[in-house]
Amino acid sequence: MEQNNSNNSLLAEIEELRQQLEEATDTIQAIRTGQVDALVVKDTDGHQLYTLKTADQTYRVFIEKMNEGAATINREGIVLYCNTRFALMVDAPLEDVIGMPILSFVPEKAKEKLQALIDDSWEDDCKKEITIKDGGEKDMHCLFSCTTIELDSGTALSLIITDLTILKATEKELKLRNEQLEEARSVTESLNESLEATVKERTHDLTISREHFKLLTNNIVQMTWTNLPDGNVNAYNQRWYDYTGLDFAATGGFGWTDLIHPDDLAETAAKYTASLQSGEMFEVENRYRRHDGVYRWHLNRSQPLRNDEGEIIFWVGTATDIEDQKREMERKDEFIGIASHELKTPLTSLKGYLQLMAAYKKEELPAAIKNYVTKAGGSLNKLQSLINDLLDVSKIKAGGLEYNIADVNVNHLIGLCMENAMLMYPHFAFSSHAGQNYIIRGNQERLEQVLMNLVNNAVKYSYVNKTVEIDTARHGNYVRISVIDKGIGLSHDQKNKIFERFYRVEDKKNMASGLGMGLYISHEIIQNHKGRIGVESEPGKGSTFYIELPLAEG
Ligand code: ADP
Repeated sequence: MEQNNSNNSLLAEIEELRQQLEEATDTIQAIRTGQVDALVVKDTDGHQLYTLKTADQTYRVFIEKMNEGAATINREGIVLYCNTRFALMVDAPLEDVIGMPILSFVPEKAKEKLQALIDDSWEDDCKKEITIKDGGEKDMHCLFSCTTIELDSGTALSLIITDLTILKATEKELKLRNEQLEEARSVTESLNESLEATVKERTHDLTISREHFKLLTNNIVQMTWTNLPDGNVNAYNQRWYDYTGLDFAATGGFGWTDLIHPDDLAETAAKYTASLQSGEMFEVENRYRRHDGVYRWHLNRSQPLRNDEGEIIFWVGTATDIEDQKREMERKDEFIGIASHELKTPLTSLKGYLQLMAAYKKEELPAAIKNYVTKAGGSLNKLQSLINDLLDVSKIKAGGLEYNIADVNVNHLIGLCMENAMLMYPHFAFSSHAGQNYIIRGNQERLEQVLMNLVNNAVKYSYVNKTVEIDTARHGNYVRISVIDKGIGLSHDQKNKIFERFYRVEDKKNMASGLGMGLYISHEIIQNHKGRIGVESEPGKGSTFYIELPLAEG
């Protein structure tokens, strides 16, 4: 009996619990669907009433604080509720928004679009970008997200409105930046392309110019080379290899020195080193050994190539074969030697006969004949001095002039020349300043020849100002004798060449007679006296030719 009682009470308890569960499920469903907003719950303190106000409050605060606008509209599109943010977005007081058609807050052109969105959203959740009136000049781009909600009064449509202005502005900015980037990229690309084209063009030009250079150097008759500032040769043209029969390994660097005639090596090496040190042009005549062992004369010239800073990058040199010219010169010298020698004998007898004629006493010679004899004597003297010069030149070439050395008094030497000059050129004004009694060791006749040559030139090349001055001065252990004129003068280039054999300045306007031998012979004579000869000159202003001779000791 007792057993039955307990079973029954258990079943009753289960039934009660089942009912409670059903009740709870219904309540939850009611809360979920919004059918109730308050419920009575029995707990240890008895029955309590819970409203959903608390939760509703939370959501209201949440919606109020949202950055997005929020609005609820009914089927007619009337705003039932909106948050402050939305009111701000449309720039109207909250109370003026509620109760108004939502379409009144969008510009005319967007109305149709919003209506379509609303219509679609009653069926299903929808989103669309739509502009709203922000109350000011500009419209505001917004994203409308719509969803239906069930209210006591029926179904409503909730709209969440997100302001896209910043997003749009950012997008616009981003677009602008992208466009700028794109523009910069295309500019860079085109720059790159033009740079590439320039590089290509330059490389092409360079290749062409290198090929040109190669073609040129390989086709010119000279041998050419380039060497570094330290003297090492780093390239030759084909002519060099053809001539020497050797390759770069044998002749590069300083290997070329083995090919120079032993007699020319010292001078070549000295001039080469001097040029490398001074940076001035290298020029020397020497003999190079050919592949068959024959030596041929060459004229070497090398010029430095400098960068913008003036530093030497490398030297470009050429060697011109002058063997044939040398032979020609030798033949010419030989001819001059023979001819002048041959001319000298009849000239001497001619001079003798003229002297006899001048001294004829038996009867008085007619004045005209006397005059002719004097003139013939003058011409003969000129001829004789030319022949003497020619003989001197060929003697120099054949091994040098002969000198009898003795003490020479400089004042005496100058006195003799002055006397001579005044007789020869009576229309010229000569002056001299006797210095100390300088004594030098030398050959009186040869030194007279030098001084007279300088005086003759001073007269010959002074067409207007007819004054010549002879000065003496001591320079250390040397005495310097200067012959100063106010004639046509010389340019820098001419000054460097006038001591060369047969060199004459080309001056068609004022061509004085001469063969370009005087200064060459003078130079040779002064060198033999261990002295120096030189010139200071300016075109149109005159020249000062000077010789410096070592003073005799003691
Ligand atoms: P030349 O017989 O031609 O005078 P030189 O050897 O004496 O031969 O002189 C060489 C050249 O130097 C001359 O042709 C002339 O052009 C130039 N020269 C020499 N002396 C003078 C001078 N005093 N003034 C100007 N030019 C001069």
